[in-house]
Amino acid sequence: MTRHEQTSQAVRTIDDIGAALAERGLDLDLLARRMRNVSLESDTTGQIVGPPWRADDVSALNMNLVPIQYGGCPLLQSLVAQATLMAFLGEADASLALALPGPGLAMPPVVALASTQQQARFFQRFQSGTPRWGAFAITEPDYGSDATAMRTSARKTGRGWVLNGTKCFITNGARADYAITFATINRQMGRYGIRAFLVESNTPGFEASRIERMAGLRATQLAVLSYTDCEVTDDALLARGDEKPLDDAFSGAQRSWAYFRPLLSAVMVGSCRRVRADLAAWLDAGGTPADRHQGVAGVEASLLDIDRQIAAAWLLCHCTAWKADRGIATSMDSSMTKAFASRVAARVTRAAMDLAGLDGIAACPSLEQGYRDARAFDIMEGTGDLQRLMIARAAQRSTSRPWDMTVVPCNCPATPDSSPVLPTDPSPDLANAHRSGKEIPHDDA
Ligand SMILES: Cc1cc2nc3c(=O)[nH]c(=O)nc-3n(C[C@H](O)[C@H](O)[C@H](O)COP(=O)(O)OP(=O)(O)OC[C@H]3O[C@@H](n4cnc5c(N)ncnc54)[C@H](O)[C@@H]3O)c2cc1C
Repeated sequence: MTRHEQTSQAVRTIDDIGAALAERGLDLDLLARRMRNVSLESDTTGQIVGPPWRADDVSALNMNLVPIQYGGCPLLQSLVAQATLMAFLGEADASLALALPGPGLAMPPVVALASTQQQARFFQRFQSGTPRWGAFAITEPDYGSDATAMRTSARKTGRGWVLNGTKCFITNGARADYAITFATINRQMGRYGIRAFLVESNTPGFEASRIERMAGLRATQLAVLSYTDCEVTDDALLARGDEKPLDDAFSGAQRSWAYFRPLLSAVMVGSCRRVRADLAAWLDAGGTPADRHQGVAGVEASLLDIDRQIAAAWLLCHCTAWKADRGIATSMDSSMTKAFASRVAARVTRAAMDLAGLDGIAACPSLEQGYRDARAFDIMEGTGDLQRLMIARAAQRSTSRPWDMTVVPCNCPATPDSSPVLPTDPSPDLANAHRSGKEIPHDDA
């Protein structure tokens, strides 16, 4: 049995993951309890209150999502293990789960685009007892869904590159030590003019100029990043030695989205579980449902419907992650997972609030917090509208039916690889999507 088979087959439960992290000094149960304790205050202030981690936890948190060859935890390389972990942490607090130290959203573009030397340099920086964050900077004030039309420019000089422009809504942007920054060398070239750069937060000309006021996921502190004649060296340009010059860095962003969509969906599954548990605890303690005529059977039916939706979203996350771990193309599965989890999160939190009424909402703040977090989740990593557009286009193009995408051979082994397995099939190019005049599937959620 290969090392990867051992790792991905050994991880069955969150207890396995907790045991693996305990070997690295992190107490996962304690971390989750402490996250839960500061959840409301973090939501109110938009800060990582506490922090919820202990000094002993930091090294293991920093190294989450780091490939094995750079010191990452073998049991956490598979996407299934990561999804299980994210659902567990999301149950404690969705926003804090996304604000924990580590390379985070910056990991996939580095694995997809950087040379071995660049990867080693980047990931070794996370071998530290001090919290370190990575960020992924592509969205701009005028270009979000249509990211290939970005304006942030990269100009070649004798000494390296000069970046100019503005990025916005960057998760952990103000606390990040390193931001993978996407910029264009020539706007006329569209996606093929885009390059990815590793920018350190102390680089002259780089500034986290603002943190947005958010309705949900507040501790993620979405930041505006400004680049003003920001000069970086040649080796800041992510480029594999064998593919110079790299002319499709945008595919690194796409693979990053395809990798993270099931993980973010897992966070939302965790958030829904928490809302469900808090609602049930309030009802058990004698809370009266908003509709006093609903009766026990009506309440139970509503709770069962909530459970059904959460279970379905989790199964989709798990299936997509399982397929990705086997090197099966999953970009459409990732879109389906995110679009579905996003609707489930909106419906479950809304149903919980309808059931609880004003008294219940006041007694269980996680209901309303979960609802706001779900709205923010729908926008990040490609809005729900865009996911549905991509799914519809793939279904139109494909000769197979959309649900065939979730069919996998039962005996397909995990891919032997020491890196996290990034999806191999980038999502379709959405450049100019809004100008295509194609009708978008209507969101009736
Ligand atoms: C919590 C959160 C975290 C984020 N983290 C990051 C991050 O770390 N890094 C980063 O770079 N960005 C990040 N973002 C930004 C996010 O990726 C963008 O907000 C998103 O891509 C949408 O872009 P936009 O805000 O410019 O909206 P727009 O693209 O302007 O869209 C506005 C509305 O129009 C709709 N729309 C747009 N185009 C179409 C179309 N073709 N068809 C139908 N409807 C369309 C959208 O669905 C949306 O409802 C984050 C956002 C959030 C909310």
